[in-house]
Amino acid sequence: MTEETDVAVVGAGGGGAVLALALAKQGISTMVLDQAVGPPKGLRGEILQPNGQQVLDRLGVLPSLPTDATRSVRHFHFCRAGGARLCSIDYGDLPAPYNRAIVTLPNVAHHAIVAAVQQQKSATLRYGTSFTGLVREGHRVVGLSTTGPDGINTIRAKIVVGADGAFSKVREALKIPADLYLYPDGYLIAILESEDPVSESFYYVGHRTILGLFPATGNKVYIFYMIPKDSMEAVKQRGIPALQQTWRRIAPQFAGLFRHLSDWNQTAYMPTGRVRTPTWVADGAVLIGDAAHAMNPHASQGRMQAMVDAMALSDLLPGCLADKDYSAARLGQFERARRPQVTMLQRLADQQVFYWNTANPAVAFLRDRVFQTLDRNARLRYQVLSTTAGLRTAPPFNMIDRVIAAGLLPDVRAHERSPHPMSL
Ligand SMILES: Cc1cc2nc3c(=O)[nH]c(=O)nc-3n(C[C@H](O)[C@H](O)[C@H](O)COP(=O)(O)OP(=O)(O)OC[C@H]3O[C@@H](n4cnc5c(N)ncnc54)[C@H](O)[C@@H]3O)c2cc1C
Repeated sequence: MTEETDVAVVGAGGGGAVLALALAKQGISTMVLDQAVGPPKGLRGEILQPNGQQVLDRLGVLPSLPTDATRSVRHFHFCRAGGARLCSIDYGDLPAPYNRAIVTLPNVAHHAIVAAVQQQKSATLRYGTSFTGLVREGHRVVGLSTTGPDGINTIRAKIVVGADGAFSKVREALKIPADLYLYPDGYLIAILESEDPVSESFYYVGHRTILGLFPATGNKVYIFYMIPKDSMEAVKQRGIPALQQTWRRIAPQFAGLFRHLSDWNQTAYMPTGRVRTPTWVADGAVLIGDAAHAMNPHASQGRMQAMVDAMALSDLLPGCLADKDYSAARLGQFERARRPQVTMLQRLADQQVFYWNTANPAVAFLRDRVFQTLDRNARLRYQVLSTTAGLRTAPPFNMIDRVIAAGLLPDVRAHERSPHPMSL
């Protein structure tokens, strides 16, 4: 069977589903397919940064998020493993109304986006359908082939979008080379019910130690604990009491919470990777999200950047369709607009990996000193906050700021606030 659409999107994940919704809302016929049997159900961390909230608000999805599955969080405390506070960040410093982080129960935002896509006349969302190859005319991509419950299909499309994650098969079929790096550490995630209400986030850093605690709705708390990749089985072998004891040493004030870990079914493991590619576009095709630029989760921006990509592309494609111009040169406008922020965040996340995940006491000393400077320096703190919030394309620190952050220079502007961050 051969079908036709304006835009075919491979992958209904963080980026693909938002793109389908944004295009369908403009009346552009869009088919989005995903190899998964349905929307994701598993445990995963969900923090909507201010730039992601802006995207969902623009699409009308933010107000529809169920209030009993979301939690607004203003204060994030960075602490040394063992308990001593190093620095506190207040999202309330950001411009309203996005002056908070939103922590949701797993997949809540994604399910709301998928539900909105399914209501659109111009969008078709097909699960259980895998991308198998591209259809080309000359060097131009004019569609793709799929396999799914209805057998083998061909979809002719003016533009094919690869939103199929870090291990993208679309990228492979486009012969775009990828530098795919798997970090030596991933995350054990858990969601536990606390006896006492927790309303602020805590992030502990120590000797090759990261433990993050993020309050979700009710008394639920997300736990992110860094472990070496491929070590989940070893962690399980050592047993739950050993893990609880380690967590108690890192964050003694949450000893009561850790008691609520009773079964490995309350946990999941998430690997971390980075993708760098020389280009995100070809004639008739584009890559977005992790397929183009996966990044370490320290940036807290991977999914947000996939969503912002989707919005930037949905702003460009109507013009391409009107002019019948699907060339790499035209689609490259999307890449030129998006690369600066993505590259900056990938670099920043890698610097954070170097300083935060370290086992080297000298590097850890410098890391803690930077956190302590940030605690006293409102200007630098705001620059870091607005970067994590997804509201800056420039790095948070220039060379002089780095020297100041290391505590080697006083800052006469320590109490100044930077100019308003960008709006997306
Ligand atoms: C531990 C951890 C914590 C994280 N925390 C955050 C955070 O706090 N904030 C944040 O913004 N980001 C975070 N991220 C990153 C975030 O999860 C990803 O960056 C985001 O999901 C990327 O979206 P995407 O649409 O590009 O890819 P994905 O969401 O991976 O979606 C890809 C989709 O493509 C489908 N697919 C793949 N191959 C095929 C095929 N051949 N045919 C059809 N379909 C296919 C898959 O089934 C999937 O649904 C975190 C990541 C990790 C590992």
